[in-house]
Amino acid sequence: MTLRLSILGSTGSIGRQTLDIVAAYPDRFRIVALAARSNLDLLRQQVSAYRPELVVVGSEQDRWRIDAPTVLAGVDGLVTAATHPDADLVVIAVSGNSGLRPTLAAAQSGKRIALANKESVVCAGELLMRTARTHGAEIRPIDSEHSALWQLLALPHRRAELARVTITASGGPFRTLTPDQLESVTPAAALAHPTWRMGPKVTIDSATLMNKGLELIEAHWLFGLPYQLLDVVIHPQSIVHALVTFRDGSTIAQAAYPDMRLPIQYALFYPDRVPGSVPLLDLTAVGRLEFYQPDCERFPALQLAREAGLRGGTYPTVLSAADEVAVEAFLAHQLRFTEIVPVVRTVLERHQPIGGSLCLEAILEADDWARSATREVIARRQAVHG
Ligand code: MG
Repeated sequence: MTLRLSILGSTGSIGRQTLDIVAAYPDRFRIVALAARSNLDLLRQQVSAYRPELVVVGSEQDRWRIDAPTVLAGVDGLVTAATHPDADLVVIAVSGNSGLRPTLAAAQSGKRIALANKESVVCAGELLMRTARTHGAEIRPIDSEHSALWQLLALPHRRAELARVTITASGGPFRTLTPDQLESVTPAAALAHPTWRMGPKVTIDSATLMNKGLELIEAHWLFGLPYQLLDVVIHPQSIVHALVTFRDGSTIAQAAYPDMRLPIQYALFYPDRVPGSVPLLDLTAVGRLEFYQPDCERFPALQLAREAGLRGGTYPTVLSAADEVAVEAFLAHQLRFTEIVPVVRTVLERHQPIGGSLCLEAILEADDWARSATREVIARRQAVHG
């Protein structure tokens, strides 16, 4: 059977790896829509290789540069791609809050969604899961930890039997640095992740552990798990991605080499498992698996994210948006590495929350507020510190 795909964010890291898998199994997939914001050269190559009916670009002036039956631009275009009637599976791999509207629209259309966009789960988790339930949409996580949890939680069990659900974090490149050393970390050093190859935002988030904090919030919504059950351990080898512990003392772990193609492939082929680009795990070659408690003093992002998740409402949106702005400022040498999380904390403290069930407008409004509040906090710091 051929699965017809709509891929949003086709030129990013996840989008490119998705197309690698499609290329490896050409008779299993057909591409109906591709969307990319700015890498027009690569998008053009993808369009000529896969001949989609619909292509979505970032801005109106780029529309004429693409040769396809239909070319649209912007978020409305993304929504059209996400709800395309011919698409059997929508891969949402756009980064940032531009994923919110298309993901919700896909859920509203009852689509099968392979979801790599963190923001839509972090910011709109309750709304997204409710919409998916109402319209019979299916969400398949594309992320090593949530893919692992998806597999582990499919094991027969009753919810009351779950004692602990653990996701692992590599700890990033600065796991062993002293507080002084962390102060002077450069963007270039932060972008060199030891075990994962990813986009710049998620790589910096891995170094601060904010990525893991956002993933805690995602796990809460995707699998309906209370925060008290959710735990994070540092595991520098990134071989074990998640563990589920039952009340009888039995723990089951999911393990694989760190390669994003595995969770992508699992989401594309589910429930089938196909031989892929990831070699079979040889634990004797890996040799050593280490696990540590995260150091909350040097890496306060995890606790901050947990607090924002527990507070709920618009707090996770503010956390995510403030972090995005702060990471950009760090990459632009406007903020120290160790200032990223304190800036996010300051913005969270200033936030006037909207609680309860959220609509998309409230989420976008909180997102907007958080971005300008973060810019303000950063500008004030620069004025003080020069
Ligand atoms: Mg992850």
